[in-house]
Amino acid sequence: SMVTLSVNDLSVQYQSQGKKVQAVDHVTFSFDKNESLGIAGESGCGKSTLGLAIMKTLQENASVSGKILFDGKSILETSDSEFTKDIRWKQISMMFQGAMNSLDPVFTIKKQFEEILKKHNFQGDKKQAIELAISSVGLSHPVLDKYPHEISGGMKQRVIIAMALIMTPRLVIADEPTTALDVLVQAQIMILLKKLKKEGLSIILISHDLGIISEIAEKVGIMYAGQIVEFGNMQEIYKNPKHPYTIALLESIPKLQETKRIIPLKGNPPSLVNPPSGCRFYDRCPQAMEKCKKDPPKIKTESGFVMCWLHE
Ligand code: SF4
Ligand code: MG
Repeated sequence: SMVTLSVNDLSVQYQSQGKKVQAVDHVTFSFDKNESLGIAGESGCGKSTLGLAIMKTLQENASVSGKILFDGKSILETSDSEFTKDIRWKQISMMFQGAMNSLDPVFTIKKQFEEILKKHNFQGDKKQAIELAISSVGLSHPVLDKYPHEISGGMKQRVIIAMALIMTPRLVIADEPTTALDVLVQAQIMILLKKLKKEGLSIILISHDLGIISEIAEKVGIMYAGQIVEFGNMQEIYKNPKHPYTIALLESIPKLQETKRIIPLKGNPPSLVNPPSGCRFYDRCPQAMEKCKKDPPKIKTESGFVMCWLHE
């Protein structure tokens, strides 16, 4: 059955070479049973860190504060050993960004499935679990004897999805699952994710591509420089985006059949080491005003919120 997840005032800070990097900055959102969530934003905005925090898989130099409730259970207050025993991979798993390129070249796919099962202390019929997982992603038995270089990118990505599903979790965090795949294969992977969702899997889809997120997610959070600047129902945000950054992201989706010129976002997000006060989108925002130098308020919208002075 599907899950509820609520994240409250979550912050993640990395300590690196004497500097503090505020990768996730007071992030709050939630989604309900029967919903999937998309997290959209440019690379380096903290999306992956957010996923890793939910998976309790952050690096040693990260410190976390706030609350993450998974079906009411506090993830940050669960001990590592209990999380490993009961939750990681068994209830929440993750397709890590770029995972298809880090399959081990010297082992067969089957061996790599066995390693995952061993790592997560699987106690059942391994052969059956592997067969079920590969068939649920549309792969068949012969793939198991192959080495990674012997299969296509699309097949590798299906293997990664099968690995995430192998212990039948209820929530999968998919970090950029279609990046680096050609358009046709991307579409096939999205069809697969939609099928899995229909079968009852909850999905958090992390992507720089809001177009892809709009295909599967009911809820979406737009992340910019460590903050969620807009959150709400996907349909509402798609039809009526409120934050200037959301508008820019939507305008950057290449739409077939349309001649509208794609306006690339100029400039870069601010550094997450000592981020500036005030709106973090200030330098790139076409509508920036004097008061945007002060921290923008969080304004309630129909289904979520937007953090922007324009909507005060
Ligand atoms: Fe633009 Fe101001 Fe809104 Fe920031 S707060 S997005 S600078 S209008
Ligand atoms: Mg990332």
